[in-house]
Amino acid sequence: MVALTFYGGINEIGGNKVLLEDGDRSLFLDFGYSFKRNKQFYEEYLRPRGGAGLLDPLEMGLIPPLEGLYRDDLATPGLWQRFSNNPFHRKMGNIDGVLLSHAHLDHSGYISFLKEDIPIYSTAVTAFITKANQDSGRAGFDQQVCYFRPVSYGCPSGWQQMACLSDRGNKRQRQFCIEHRENLSPQAIRFWEEGFRERTARQGEFTCSPLAGHSSCSFQLRCFPVDHSIPGACAWGIKTGAGWIIYSGDLRLHGKRSHLTEEFIKQAAKLKPRVLILEGTNLHDNDSFSRGNTSEQEVYESALEAITGSDGLVIADFSPRDIDRLLIFLQIARDTGRKLAIQPKDAYLLKTIGLLEPRIPDIAGDDDIVIYQKTTASKSPDHWQRNIYEEYQDKTVLADDIGSAQDKFILCFSFFDVNELPSIRPAPGSLYVYSSSEPHDEEQEIDFRRLHKWIEHFNLKGFGLPVEKDGKWLIPEAEKGLHASGHACGRDLLKVAQDIKPEILMPVHSERPDLYTGPLKSSNIDIILPEVGKAVDLS
Ligand SMILES: [Zn+2]
Repeated sequence: MVALTFYGGINEIGGNKVLLEDGDRSLFLDFGYSFKRNKQFYEEYLRPRGGAGLLDPLEMGLIPPLEGLYRDDLATPGLWQRFSNNPFHRKMGNIDGVLLSHAHLDHSGYISFLKEDIPIYSTAVTAFITKANQDSGRAGFDQQVCYFRPVSYGCPSGWQQMACLSDRGNKRQRQFCIEHRENLSPQAIRFWEEGFRERTARQGEFTCSPLAGHSSCSFQLRCFPVDHSIPGACAWGIKTGAGWIIYSGDLRLHGKRSHLTEEFIKQAAKLKPRVLILEGTNLHDNDSFSRGNTSEQEVYESALEAITGSDGLVIADFSPRDIDRLLIFLQIARDTGRKLAIQPKDAYLLKTIGLLEPRIPDIAGDDDIVIYQKTTASKSPDHWQRNIYEEYQDKTVLADDIGSAQDKFILCFSFFDVNELPSIRPAPGSLYVYSSSEPHDEEQEIDFRRLHKWIEHFNLKGFGLPVEKDGKWLIPEAEKGLHASGHACGRDLLKVAQDIKPEILMPVHSERPDLYTGPLKSSNIDIILPEVGKAVDLS
């Protein structure tokens, strides 16, 4: 029997977790964090309790109750009895692996909970980004995609409650399997095996899993690089007893590397696939199919035009990890005689991806990149951060350096960095260029209201910022074109489906998967809208 079961990504953007079973072999296509379901129950200060292990994520439906899939150390005593009557409960045998499409958390996040012996198949860039993100990111128990330290539970003295007692033993790295492993440089291998791994100097023991290749998988796989708003993204092809199954991951046809997506479409079509599992992020209504996309080239042109006329400080606000966007602003900095001031996290990510991709500039040798050091540096900065500042000592700039030569910098800040502005004191009329997406929920709307207040307080000129009008957040017409979506527009999604021409299309990663039905009616492609937890039998 060949079957597909969707445990996430249905009627939501992200949270993809698709189980593919073929006889006694099985794989997951991504194992992502569901922003939608998380936001229904949690917020920044109300989070699943790390000390309760798997209980909270299972109880609140963040992960499916598949017994045998998750880390044993996170199972509190009696956990699985609680879920044995859940309609989705199943005992799972061995899983052959997770095919990870890219390193965005809504595709990778809940790998954190999976048994450590389940190998993760990805591109080398994706594997390295998961490590860099974890080295330099928050250390929550639900963000341990690349490595983790097992925990143990018991009753601490003086307590009657069962609680997480301690982190036990060595940090363990998951087994990642990448394509072209043989091409890695010794520096790249060293980063994988050593790196920073800890937020403090107390490194501790670390059990490294050396990188393996894709050929170790029991399935025949094809890994197709595609263009998305993070480097290293790929689509997958899996040969099954019911024919080839293609999984798009997230992709677009209007970015700098759209040729990758074009090539994927060509190669996937040649396989004459039985099923195409295709993302549909940009499907909102019937008009979605006539709306086009702003391209990365247009973003470059619009931002260059806005910045060229500015003689004060320029702040560029774009999504972290969007390296293509960072490179656009680096080019604009060069074009306008400014330097690009990046955050230490950006520097760490650039350095990491630079180990694999020659197109990434070398920070040390690039006169146009500097690294901003926050004013209120803590007494004991994170280990990785201190290393970055040490390595690039002569590249560090402080608030005073920027404040005294404001027309010489483009400063990469997001909303969460604006509390540095009192130290920088931007000149009135300085430019705040917003190059990211519009608010998607109430929390983000509240943040936008705050951002507008900051801009007002410092007398900055906002450009490309969504403005609230009659309860809607829209970017003023004259300031559009500063953000290119990481996802294909409706028209391009139809092109992907029609050119690959699978027998069956299953939409995923979409609020409105049903919208595919109308335009593909006469295409001879069957559309199946999967339901959460219900297996679709393909044999
Ligand atoms: Zn993504």
